[in-house]
Amino acid sequence: MKLEEFPLSGAVMPLQEWFSVHARVLPWRSDPTPYHVWISEIMLQQTRVEAVKAYYARFIAALPGVEELAACPEDVYMKLWEGLGYYSRVRNLHTAACQIMEKYGGKFPEEEGAIRSLKGIGSYTAGAICSIAFGKPVPAVDGNVLRVLMRLAGDDSDIMLQTTRRRTETVLRALMERYQTETEGIRLNPAVFSQALMELGALVCVPNGEPKCEKCPWQEFCQAKLLNKWQELPVKKKAKGRRIEERTVLVLKDGERAAIRKRPAKGLLAGLYELPNLEGHLNSKAVLAYARRLGFRPLRIQPLEAAKHIFSHVEWHMIGYELKLEEEELASEEQKQMRKKEGILFADAKRIRESYAIPTAFGAYAKYI
Ligand code: SF4
Repeated sequence: MKLEEFPLSGAVMPLQEWFSVHARVLPWRSDPTPYHVWISEIMLQQTRVEAVKAYYARFIAALPGVEELAACPEDVYMKLWEGLGYYSRVRNLHTAACQIMEKYGGKFPEEEGAIRSLKGIGSYTAGAICSIAFGKPVPAVDGNVLRVLMRLAGDDSDIMLQTTRRRTETVLRALMERYQTETEGIRLNPAVFSQALMELGALVCVPNGEPKCEKCPWQEFCQAKLLNKWQELPVKKKAKGRRIEERTVLVLKDGERAAIRKRPAKGLLAGLYELPNLEGHLNSKAVLAYARRLGFRPLRIQPLEAAKHIFSHVEWHMIGYELKLEEEELASEEQKQMRKKEGILFADAKRIRESYAIPTAFGAYAKYI
């Protein structure tokens, strides 16, 4: 049946009671200020809980509030995010912190519309902040919540469709508003309810593999369980295939220094530093010719292992070379201009490791710096 037809109110108390016993102890749960909820939810969007814990602790220690985040230089917040991937998230955090400073005097806004107007905050994150930090009846619907609710109701709507998400938000919002004050023996606590839905999706009604129905507070009335349909639900139409890009990554070393370059301000991995790389899979002869064109004098070239990095829409299939260069600079003016055009700069290898945010996409080669 459709979610709208399912008697959801009966699922509220069993879920909240289950959460009160089984909730994991997580660093951001001990003091759920809007700032803490916001940072943790953004980190958790593409990263596993276990991996987020250390990043979260480091980020909050360095930037304990909106004011510190707004004042933080780009290279510093990028470094704090290094390894988490999807760097637009941290840029948006910084922009939103500046918006909060300018528009709200540094105080996190409480109103849902104002929170939604902040850079990088969509309906899910706004729902999480409103419900968890402010106790408001605003739903936080992501893929995990959609999965558990579609299974609970036995709803075969395609969860990749925006309409399914919006419908689910409407149903949950009505439920949260109706039972926020005790009605018919049901009292819905928005903070507990939101987190419990997420927790059920993470621990019991899991995304990959068989759900642990025997541990689920909904097992007696869940449609997917009763009709043995968990494998068919949720319905999720296939995402488009990723584009494959071949790249040749260069580790150019000149004594204690290595070459890096800054990526363009827009697009994939915008504004981050990267290792110089070329389109296609080039052989060593072509790589040496490229290095000489830029005025470098390679002493040695060594092929490195192939590596692959998967982004949401693109896959990089990489090969690499390490080039040892003669330290003496004999580049012509024209060659220096070419290097500048290519954005190549040399920095002390130790400093690159410590201070430059190099995305994990280059991890297989950055270790040779
Ligand atoms: Fe998921 Fe099973 Fe619980 Fe249904 S009973 S919500 S399928 S874990």
